[in-house]
Amino acid sequence: MAKRIVGQHITRPGRTVDDEDITFPVAKDLLKVPGVPRREDEITFYSREYPLESFAVAETASAEWAGKVRDEFSPETTELYQEFQNEMEPLVEWIRSTGDLEPTGTPTGNDVTDLIRKKARQLGYGEVGFTRFDRRYVYESKRKYLRPEVSHAICLAYEQDYGDTQAIPSLKAEEAQGEAYKQQAHLSKELVEFIRSLGYRAQVSGPAWHYGPMIPMFVEAGLGQLGVNGQLLSPHFGSRARLQIILTDARVTHDKPVDYGVIKFCELCQVCFMRCPGKAIQGQTVWYRGVEKSKLIYKRCRPVMARFSGCGVCMKVCPIQKYGMKPVMEHYVETGTVLGKGTDNLEGYELPGKGYFEAGKLPHFDAAFFDMPTGRSEDHLLNEFKEKLREAEKDADESEALWQEYRDKIEKSMKQQGAVVDMGMDLAE
Ligand code: SF4
Ligand code: SF4
Repeated sequence: MAKRIVGQHITRPGRTVDDEDITFPVAKDLLKVPGVPRREDEITFYSREYPLESFAVAETASAEWAGKVRDEFSPETTELYQEFQNEMEPLVEWIRSTGDLEPTGTPTGNDVTDLIRKKARQLGYGEVGFTRFDRRYVYESKRKYLRPEVSHAICLAYEQDYGDTQAIPSLKAEEAQGEAYKQQAHLSKELVEFIRSLGYRAQVSGPAWHYGPMIPMFVEAGLGQLGVNGQLLSPHFGSRARLQIILTDARVTHDKPVDYGVIKFCELCQVCFMRCPGKAIQGQTVWYRGVEKSKLIYKRCRPVMARFSGCGVCMKVCPIQKYGMKPVMEHYVETGTVLGKGTDNLEGYELPGKGYFEAGKLPHFDAAFFDMPTGRSEDHLLNEFKEKLREAEKDADESEALWQEYRDKIEKSMKQQGAVVDMGMDLAE
């Protein structure tokens, strides 16, 4: 393949606060649009008529199913998630309360963007950006908790451990993910104190308590672009970036979306699409809720995650995650090819208990593997009850027993809601 013409150079702050800025080329044939292709009217329409809802609320049937499957397949993962939940609960309690915290200082009226960015970088956040808080991306059940005056989003990315991430899927990688979330919670405490001391409010979204999806605002703040794997591909960490947003009423200047070349690069890379064990990732894009993207098929992902330590192969095999955006984009300009594509170094992975899958080889799962209930648990149990009742016809004793069984299941389901099923999932209200 031939050397490519450079379309633009991008300069970003270094990986840590002590590192020099980095500059890398983006090939002209990779340029498409800053951020993501989007239709504002459609985003508004869907948010108004079909508001978003958290999976922790809208997908409780599959969550309970996944919890049972995981207990059977990998009890050690259940144990790890339980420990994580125990440690996160007080932190989530604090995150939930941040909207009630009053400022402690007096605002000067000056723009405080640089002060907040510097503080966040000193604390250890790898990417920091500012944008409008887009309330179209708020979960329906969380709207009541949001302060009306917080109109800006401070987007904060924290790097999950590099080495452990390359061991995906494994308990080690899940521990690294959990550790990143705990660190985020602790760091945000310091950043919230700082913003309050400047005289402003700071309401925290994430980890384990989110007001909505965060990637759209990270893209608008210029911190990366959406990959085919459904994750933010950020310059230093690719999809290894763990995301968190602090909402504020402080006077800040918004950043702009950037075209890193990711959208067109993904079109020719497609590694995550080809390597996904569940075939959950789609190679082609569709317009979904006003955004052009590759839409992940959730029903093919969760059954894999439940059995194989949260899976995450789509993160592991992404060259931008593994090598970083600068080497990947430089390699493309020099060769017109995708760094690492077709090699076991990038594409190989082991599924615990299933074996090693080199580049070009995929595991096989039959249809029963993906047989999972979807939607809300209460709806699923009611449908199941009605079906059984119909079969019992007019047998009063059997009907009574079914009614009792239904009540027991509903009570048990309500108790289970809020348990961590996938690392990173919201804890219940
Ligand atoms: S987590 Fe695994 S199953 Fe789900 S999309 Fe990623 S690679 Fe596919
Ligand atoms: S693996 Fe390739 S196609 Fe998938 S998100 Fe990463 S760069 Fe894009």
